[in-house]
Amino acid sequence: MKEQIQEQFKQRFGTDGVIYASAGRINLIGEHTDYNGGFVFPGAIDKYIMAEININGTDKVRVFSMDMDAYCEFGLNEEDAPQEQWARYIFGVCRETIKRGGTVKGFDTVFAGNVPLGAGLSSSAALESCFAFALNDLFNDNKIDKFELAKIGQSTEHNYCGVNCGIMDQFASVFGKKDCLMRLDCRSLEHEYFPFHPEGYKVVLLNSKVKHELVDSPYNKRRESCERVAATLGLDTLRDATYTMLADVRDKVSDEDYRRARFVIGEKQRVLDVCDALERGDYETVGRCMYETHDGLSRDYEVSCEELDYLNDVARECGVTGSRIMGGGFGGCTINLVKEDRYDNFIATAKEKFNAKYGHEPEVINVIISDGAHKVID
Ligand code: ADP
Ligand code: MG
Repeated sequence: MKEQIQEQFKQRFGTDGVIYASAGRINLIGEHTDYNGGFVFPGAIDKYIMAEININGTDKVRVFSMDMDAYCEFGLNEEDAPQEQWARYIFGVCRETIKRGGTVKGFDTVFAGNVPLGAGLSSSAALESCFAFALNDLFNDNKIDKFELAKIGQSTEHNYCGVNCGIMDQFASVFGKKDCLMRLDCRSLEHEYFPFHPEGYKVVLLNSKVKHELVDSPYNKRRESCERVAATLGLDTLRDATYTMLADVRDKVSDEDYRRARFVIGEKQRVLDVCDALERGDYETVGRCMYETHDGLSRDYEVSCEELDYLNDVARECGVTGSRIMGGGFGGCTINLVKEDRYDNFIATAKEKFNAKYGHEPEVINVIISDGAHKVID
């Protein structure tokens, strides 16, 4: 990818620039926990957005997207927002940097990526983080701290792309470190790295490629359930709730709310258990927790769907160590931790059985935990 970007850059702009990259992400465990003040556990992956950039001495940004095969030019004032969605991510990062008192001047750039779009691996966060990191290096002597870079990406989604996302994706893309997952406390924003060396295992995502279009309202309903139970317990969020506390209000909350809260309490503990297991190199426990998360998301939180439950069943049948829905649910991917000697059989079986039932194969996405935002070449 690097060589193609360099060739295209030279051809278009007649010079060379500096090359930066930032990554997509997975979340090993910790689902629907962010708005409950709990933990998430993401890591950056070996799928990234890469951009070559050169300061051009004007007040214009000139961008070529290799994957869209499209060119766009825009100024740096609020009224200069481009129409193209892909360009708005870059424009937004420029604007959010400027709004925070940072400097951004005109630049030329060519960029490309291999994070699958819209598969739940956060290609958009990779794009934002790549440019946020680059603008900090090129124009601001790296004075903007890393958390602020993540927030620049998040605010870009909110203010320029109409996506009201949390901080996890941009956090993972900016802070990602090879062979490490990161536990982010969504209440305090404290974070800690944990070793992830799954020797003898592979991490593979199976993208069901289905999206059931009921995402928004169930999401809000889940949040409301959690808020109701927290209020009944006299808490701000379910973060400090326990099973015992929940049992005490069993007859004060609806059965549905009870099950939602039961999942959230379990999920918080599972993230902590997985962190402990990783420190011991105990990947079997990690896998068991992943299955428990899937069951909780499917039965208690009810955000799964037939296709994802089917992929999970196939994983169990094939002796996969751990498997679960990744992301909000109702479609998208499962994330699987699978022993190398079971991998080929698992993939072949999943493709064949899923295709026979749903008429298309799931997309297979292998991932390795890798570095987040960084400079590739000076
Ligand atoms: P995801 O879950 O992958 O983040 P989003 O819908 O949030 O999905 O973001 C995808 C959008 O990000 C694309 O529609 C496009 O505008 C932009 N994008 C991501 N990757 C690229 C790329 N390689 N080239 C151009 N634009 C990209
Ligand atoms: Mg996105």
